[in-house]
Formats: sequence, C-alpha cells, structure tokens
Amino acid sequence: MSSDLSDTNLPRAGQSRHRIMEVLSPEKPAPGLYLVATPIGHASDITLRALGLLAAADVLYCEDTRVTSKLLSLYGIRQKLEPYHEHNAARMRPKIAARLERGEVIAMVSDAGTPAISDPGFRLARDMASAGHLVTHCPGPSAALTGLVLSGLATNRFFFCGFLPPKHKARLSDLEEVKTVPATLIFYESPKRLAASLRDMETVLGDRPSAVARELTKKFEEIRKGPLSELASAYEEEGAPKGEVVVVVDAPGESAEQSQEQIRDRLSALLNEVSLKDAVAEVTRESGWKRSDVYDLALGLKKAETL
Ligand code: SAM
Repeated sequence: MSSDLSDTNLPRAGQSRHRIMEVLSPEKPAPGLYLVATPIGHASDITLRALGLLAAADVLYCEDTRVTSKLLSLYGIRQKLEPYHEHNAARMRPKIAARLERGEVIAMVSDAGTPAISDPGFRLARDMASAGHLVTHCPGPSAALTGLVLSGLATNRFFFCGFLPPKHKARLSDLEEVKTVPATLIFYESPKRLAASLRDMETVLGDRPSAVARELTKKFEEIRKGPLSELASAYEEEGAPKGEVVVVVDAPGESAEQSQEQIRDRLSALLNEVSLKDAVAEVTRESGWKRSDVYDLALGLKKAETL
C-alpha cells in the first residue's frame, strides 16, 4: 500500500487518540456495527469519518491485524484489534453480538476496500441487523467501482460477478450464467489465473471489448483495453502480471443478440470458405451464441445443401 500522505492535513502518527477523535469525530458514535471502507492502494483514500470511527470504536475487527495495524499507525490511531476472517467468523459472530448487546461501538474493516464485497462482513451485517442492532456502512473505496470507472466501458448498468471459480469447468459454467446479462460485467481475478480466465471469458461470452485494471490507485496503476482475445493472448505471452487486477467486460453487444437469420447468413457465407468446424468456431466467437446452438444451425445448413 502506498504511504504518500503529503497531500493530507490529517493528524499524524504520535498524536493522541483523543486528539484524532476530537478532529475527526467530535461526538461518540451511537452503539452499533460500522463496516468501514479502507484504501485499496493509496493510503490517503480514507474518509475523515472512517478515521474518526476507527479511532472512536470500542473495538476494531479486521481480517489481518498486521495489515490493519499498518494503516492505523499511518494515522496515529491506537486501537484494540480483534481478528474476524472466514476461518473464525462463525465463532466470532456471537461474541460480537454480545458486545453489541452491551452497547459497544464496533468497527469492522477488511484488508482493503469495502468489507462484505468479496470480503468478510456480509453475514455479520445481516445477522446483527436482524437481531435489531444498528448496522451501518462508512463508504469508501472498492476496486470494482474504480475498475469500472476507468475501463472506458458503459457505466449506466453493471453487474458485479466477484471471483470466478479457479477450476476451468466451473468457471465456464459460471460464465454461462452471466453471458446474457445486459450489463457491463465486473470480475475480481488473481493475476496467476488472469490469462486462463480471459480465454474462458472469450470462449463463453464472445470476443467482447474489455479492460484489465491493475494496481488501482497505486503508483503503477495500469488500464489495458482490448477485445478479450487480445488481452488473453497478451497475458498468455507475458505471464501473470504483478499486483491486483479487476477485469471489466462489455455488455453483450448487438452481435450477441443477432437473430437466427443473421447467424444463418453468416454461417452460409463462411461454409463456402472454411470447414464446418472453423465456421462454427468463428460464428460462436462473433455472436456470443452457445457453440452447440451454432453447431446445430450449421449442421442444418450443410444437410440442406446436400439435398
Ligand atoms: N473488498 C475489496 C473491495 O471492495 O474492492 C475487494 C477484496 S477482494 C478479496 C480482492 C480483489 O479485489 C483482488 O483480487 C482484486 O481483484 C481486487 N482489487 C483489490 N485492490 C485492487 C487494486 N488496487 N487494483 C486492482 N484490483 C484490486
């Protein structure tokens, strides 16, 4: 995480917890659970309210106490940290509920970005709210939105897909589920699976315009744009990139909604030039249709030709 704080006038390390609370959050927050967003790269991307809450809370739950300690020390905040992560969540929830019963102010952060977005926090928020406690969110960075904003793709309607499964087959079937969603798609992905995922996206979604947003808000932030096939080839050749990535993929275009008639015309033309297999592959890629549907259509055309 970058630690360039020169552009902030915030209290610095060494200032007391009381001073920070005075500046950032003069009133003690109401008892409840506060899901607090933290930076996804640039350490200054944290709101004044977030700092106030982190300082004022009775306890701060976090995924990794080492990661959160670093952030707190940048801002001179001393706080009691308790772990809350996928391995201890079930055990911790009743303890957190008991604290809320006692009227405590509980802050919760993940390692980076917005808790509960591909990070722990969803169940806790849901359960504590159903138990009647105040549950609220202190909004801030999330890589999904920053990736979308910088992707150059339509932002009016988008669909967050989270992480795809690591295994090829499961990934293909998840992609089938979102193939016809009429919105820009946003995926989180690990750099080591990036090339394989981009290739699977191309296979299932068709060769749509897309963007890989890497190291967002950090020094080496990079946005690469191009059709899925091009980005897949680039990362297959270069290997896994460094850092973290978000993949953003265009909504199905007109090509994906092509009528059967248009697909049939295109297939007829191609079948005069290339093999059935190649024609099917080409039209599947262009149209975003299922390969099996294109194949059936192509077989029908071939049969009609031989009659
Ligand atoms: N809760 C976080 C949020 O709101 O962004 C996301 C947590 S998820 C475990 C981590 C994933 O978010 C990474 O694998 C990557 O896909 C994405 N991510 C987080 N920080 C990023 C960054 N600075 N640049 C690009 N992607 C990032």
